[in-house]
Amino acid sequence: MKALEQKILEEGKVLSESVLKVDSFLNHQIDPVLMQLIGQEFAQRFKDAGITKVLTLESSGIAPSVMTALELSVKTVFARKRKSLTLVDGLYSAEVYSFTKKESNEISVSKQYISKEDKVLVIDDFLANGQAALGLTDIVEQSGATLVGIGIVIEKGFQTGRELLEGRGIRVESLAIIDSLVDGEVTFKEEK
Ligand code: 5GP
Repeated sequence: MKALEQKILEEGKVLSESVLKVDSFLNHQIDPVLMQLIGQEFAQRFKDAGITKVLTLESSGIAPSVMTALELSVKTVFARKRKSLTLVDGLYSAEVYSFTKKESNEISVSKQYISKEDKVLVIDDFLANGQAALGLTDIVEQSGATLVGIGIVIEKGFQTGRELLEGRGIRVESLAIIDSLVDGEVTFKEEK
């Protein structure tokens, strides 16, 4: 997606050979016009899949998920990283090791919001080694719903996430695929 690649080139900060910071439009401040384009692109790619719910992880997945759900006219649910006091019983949960924070978090979703009749699209901001996406697919599996696929805003193609997910037969759609972050420069994989 050209507009996203352009934004990454203009505003992304390469923190190391494996970490890209995009706080100015996705992870802290949010650019709603870009999020709308992202939502339209995901909706277009998955339009024939009969999606009934979009599932993501707080907090950075929420903006692209809301815009995608709006385009598809369905609701979106975000997995929580901390247990809320009002969310005690009736949870699906999974353990997720965080690539950026180097710690494990239990993520959870109320059983009220995903049912076995749902066709779920999972969305996340980044794909690195696939642990966040895998935790979300684990929750979909527990609910008995059907996983339609995974939509990723920025995939780091030099890490192992896609291989892990595709190895499980999951459809992965990424809007920008980074080939390398070497020498402080972002290079993208050519779009097919
Ligand atoms: P994974 O679970 O695929 O290893 O890592 C994905 C998660 O880690 C995403 O939800 C995202 O929050 C975070 N993440 C991974 N790599 C990056 C990165 O290069 N930059 C930022 N900002 N977040 C990342």
